[in-house]
Amino acid sequence: MSQSLDDLYREIILDHYRSPRGKKPLAHFDIISDGHNPSCGDELSLEVEMDKDHNTLKDIHVDCKGCAISTASGSILAELIKGKSLEEAKQIAELVKRILKGEEVEVPDSLGDLDALKGVRQFPVRIKCALLAWVTLIEGLKNYENGKGDKAVVSTEDEENKK
Ligand code: ZN
Repeated sequence: MSQSLDDLYREIILDHYRSPRGKKPLAHFDIISDGHNPSCGDELSLEVEMDKDHNTLKDIHVDCKGCAISTASGSILAELIKGKSLEEAKQIAELVKRILKGEEVEVPDSLGDLDALKGVRQFPVRIKCALLAWVTLIEGLKNYENGKGDKAVVSTEDEENKK
């Protein structure tokens, strides 16, 4: 990886960390999900308001109390997922999981900031930090699709055990 690409990744992460997207609390939400990353101590909570007529994620609120990587990843999620359909949101989350597993995947231009997460792979202890927001989203969407109105709770440790 070239140095300049490294710098670009770092810049994207820092930008999201300094001014996280999706900070505005929602007056109404259909999905609520809490994620924990015990290996770092990151705590993340997200809420999604659905547009039920179109089955799209109308708005999202991400509240992260964690390190720079988990916060930045949550912010990238908020930015990319807003307005997407339920299916698209799931596909993007699965794509992120593959990126963080180290698979060589093409990131479409429209999801450009996801490329920055490739930089995280150089720091294995940080991978779960980057993963946290996405597994939290997946769990929340699953709950919603199963018609459960309660809060989803997920830990990055569960993710580990699934492998
Ligand atoms: Zn972390």
